[in-house]
Amino acid sequence: MTLIATDAKHYRLLPFRFMRMNTGHHRDILLTSDTGEYMHVNDAQLRALSYFDVQASTPFYKDLLARHFIYEPGRHDPFPEMAAQYRSRKDFLFQGPALHLFVVTLRCNHTCQYCQVSRAPLGGAGHDLSEADAQAAVDRLFESNAPALTVEFQGGEPLLAFERVRQIVEWVVDRNVVEQRDIQFVITTTLHHLTEEILDFAEQNRIQFSTSLDGPAPLHNANRPTPSRDSYERTVKGIQWVRERLGHDAVSALTTLTSRSLEQPEAIIDEYVNQGFSSISLRPLSPYGFATKSAHRLDYPIERYLAFYKRALAYLLHVNQQGVYLSESYTSLLLKNILTPFSSGYVDLRSPAGAGTAALVYNYDGYVYPSDEARMLLEMGEDGLRLGTVQQPLSELLASPVMNALLASGVAEALPGCSDCALVPYCGADPVEHYARQGDPIGHRVFSSFCEKNMGLLKHLFGLLCDGDDNVQRVLLAWLNRRSYNDVRFPGYRG
Ligand code: SF4
Repeated sequence: MTLIATDAKHYRLLPFRFMRMNTGHHRDILLTSDTGEYMHVNDAQLRALSYFDVQASTPFYKDLLARHFIYEPGRHDPFPEMAAQYRSRKDFLFQGPALHLFVVTLRCNHTCQYCQVSRAPLGGAGHDLSEADAQAAVDRLFESNAPALTVEFQGGEPLLAFERVRQIVEWVVDRNVVEQRDIQFVITTTLHHLTEEILDFAEQNRIQFSTSLDGPAPLHNANRPTPSRDSYERTVKGIQWVRERLGHDAVSALTTLTSRSLEQPEAIIDEYVNQGFSSISLRPLSPYGFATKSAHRLDYPIERYLAFYKRALAYLLHVNQQGVYLSESYTSLLLKNILTPFSSGYVDLRSPAGAGTAALVYNYDGYVYPSDEARMLLEMGEDGLRLGTVQQPLSELLASPVMNALLASGVAEALPGCSDCALVPYCGADPVEHYARQGDPIGHRVFSSFCEKNMGLLKHLFGLLCDGDDNVQRVLLAWLNRRSYNDVRFPGYRG
C-alpha cells in the first residue's frame, strides 16, 4: 500500500531482480534489470528504492534512471531503449544453427576413462559416417540461414576418417561458391594421426585444429592413456607441427579436468604458458558417456571444482599481470554477458537454450542431435533426445517433438528458480544437462550442478568486478577486449 501511495511522487519502478552476494562488502546486494544492467547496492539503498524514497538530486537516483531500474512517468519513455537492449542481448535468436558438428567416426586410439563419446576400437567396423549421410548433412548445413557457419569435425578421432573429412570440406567449399557464407572449419583431434598430406589440405582450406591438453606430461598421460603411453609427447609434437606449417594460432587446446587435475591448477596453467597458448578452458567433467560409468572414481562435487577455479583464476590473473596473455575462455564468455549489451552466444549460456537452435550434431549413424551432450547420452543407452535422421529437412528436424520439449524447458527466465534469480540475464538454460543429471529437462535448480557452477562463477566474478584491485580489473577488461594487459591502462567500469 505504501508503495503505491508514494509511487505517485516522482518515479516508478521498472522490473528488476536482486540477490545478496554474501561477500562482506558494504554494497552486498546485486540489482539486475531484465536487459542485463546491474548495480551493487546496500540494504538502505534497496529499501529506499522499493519505498520510492530515493531523492532525485542524488547520484544514486541518476544511476538508477540511467540503468533502467526506474523511470519518470511523463518525463521520459524508457521502453524503446529497453526493447532495443533486449533485442541486442537476444540477437542470436534471429539466425539458425551456426555450429554444425560432423561425427565422422567413433574410432579412437585412446582409452580415456572419462571419454565423453564412448569410442570404438581403431579397426572397429560400422562406426564411420557414410558418404550418403555426409552429403545429406552438408545439405542440412546450408539450410540454416546463419551467415557464418562453423563446420567442426569430431570423433572418436576424426583424422582416422580423414577421407570423409576431405570430401565434406570439398563439398562445402564447392557449394559455398554460390552460397557465399563465412565458413570456418575446425578439426577436434589428438593430433596423433597428422600427416603432411593432412596439413597440406588444412593449409589450402584454412582449417583450424582444436586439441586436448590436460596439463604437464604426467597428468596428461594419466588422464589420456594410449597403448604406447606417450599421448602428451605426440600431442605436443602435433601442436608444433601445425604451428610450423599453418601458423601459431592455427591450433587451440582444451582441458578436461579430472579429480587429480583439481589438485594442480598452477601446473596446468604453467603448461599452457609454456606451450604458448593464449586461451585455456577450465571446464568441469561432463556427466555423459563413459564419464558416468566411472563416476564413482572420476566425478567430483562442483564445490571442489569451484575451489579449483578460484585458485586457478587467481593464478591466471597473476600470470597476466606479468605480461603473459592467457585468458580463461568461460570467464571471458561470462564477462561478455555481464559487461556488454550483447550475449556471448555460447550454446550453454543461451536462453532460450542453444541446443538445436545454435548447434546440430550429425552422428556417424546418420541421426541428428541437438548438441554433443545429447548424442553422448545415446552412448549411455538413451536415445530420447534424437531430432531425426540426417535425410530429413532442417525445418522438420527443428519442429520435432524433442526440439519442442527442449524449447519448452529452455527459457531460463520462465524456469522455477531461475525466474527470480538476479543472475538470469547472464546465465542460460541447459535442458540437456538437466535431463542427463536429473531425468527432467526442466530440472530442479537447488540440486543442479549447472546452477551451482554458474552461480558460483558469476558471484565470484561480480565480487572481483566490485572489489578487485585495479590490476585485476585491467586483466578482466583485457580478456573482454582481447587486448594485452599493458594496452588496458585504466580499470574501467564498476557497477
Ligand atoms: S541456473 Fe542458477 S544461477 Fe543460473 S539463472 Fe538459474 S538459478 Fe540463477
